[in-house]
Amino acid sequence: MEAARTQTHQVKVGDVAIGGGAPVAVQSMTNAAMVPSDHGPVLDLAGNLKQIELLADAGCEIARVAIPNRASLATFADICAASPLPVVADIHFDHLIAIGAARAGASKLRINPGNIGTLAEVDEVIEVAGECGIPIRIGVNAGSLDSKWRDKSDWTLAERLCASVTEYVEHFNQRSFHDIVISAKAHDVLATIETYRLLSKELPTTPLHLGVTEAGTIRQGTVKSSVGLGVLLCEGIGDTFRVSLTAPPEEEIAVAWEILAACGLRRRSPELVSCPTCGRCQVDMISLAQEVERRLQKLKSPIKVAVMGCVVNGPGEAADADIGVACGRGAGIIFAGGKQIRKVPVDQIVDALFEEIAALEAKR
Ligand code: SF4
Repeated sequence: MEAARTQTHQVKVGDVAIGGGAPVAVQSMTNAAMVPSDHGPVLDLAGNLKQIELLADAGCEIARVAIPNRASLATFADICAASPLPVVADIHFDHLIAIGAARAGASKLRINPGNIGTLAEVDEVIEVAGECGIPIRIGVNAGSLDSKWRDKSDWTLAERLCASVTEYVEHFNQRSFHDIVISAKAHDVLATIETYRLLSKELPTTPLHLGVTEAGTIRQGTVKSSVGLGVLLCEGIGDTFRVSLTAPPEEEIAVAWEILAACGLRRRSPELVSCPTCGRCQVDMISLAQEVERRLQKLKSPIKVAVMGCVVNGPGEAADADIGVACGRGAGIIFAGGKQIRKVPVDQIVDALFEEIAALEAKR
């Protein structure tokens, strides 16, 4: 069952809606290395486009690109023009890059108003984003919190992050700019949860971009993101999110979709139900489940497949799935649509499952 969503103001990032009841949008960020040019290092056009294509293929809906210098703006324009996904420009320290990115075709800007320049320079960015009709994400991180808030030692980190973001949102709203998304990230999971709960309470109509920042490599980052983002999403908090992993960007998308599916919000790929195995199991369940998982990765439909090791829970789970197998000594009983349909030897189980999956897909 889908969690009740917090109703926020909707903004559009290209053709992707964020907030206002739209499906929680999945995003990631490219990390292609810079390449040399006559003007010094610049964004790598081919490298970024290749990564964006991989992201799109994995199910990413919005791609973010960091623009480290003004010399990269021309390449950024080319990336936006050729990208299959709407592109968010991520800028620090130089408001003129943000202005250039908006004019180069960015579908959204991501800035930290605390480090992009003076407030007057922030206002210039707001004005150009308004002219271009694109939203701005106000992104504050625990590691770069303005000293005005950082030094409030009697406040929790969540309170300091929330105060900083709220002040910026008020500043933007006073300038009649309302197409805002906000993020306030920390690497600590509990601080992240507390911060977004507070933001959701203090700014209930502003769309939230969730993330546990600097979450780590694949195993640790997946767990931290799943716990932090999963708790919030299950509470109806969050309109878009990025899973931050020290890994190829498309890995983030696989994790993001698993989180959405586990929260009962969105599913775009098959679900594999497989038992953990125990002493009752009489087949090589680990190899069997891994092979089924490998072959399921090629499918892009939300089919549920169960691979179970014995008759204790096997028939029930296999019958509950779209397609399933309950294994026994030397054989597996294949289920489809809740009914037993055939018994096959162990070495034919995977092929039999995929024959039934193909038959089901053909009917859909
Ligand atoms: S389904 Fe059977 S083999 Fe698998 S964990 Fe349960 S009891 Fe053990």
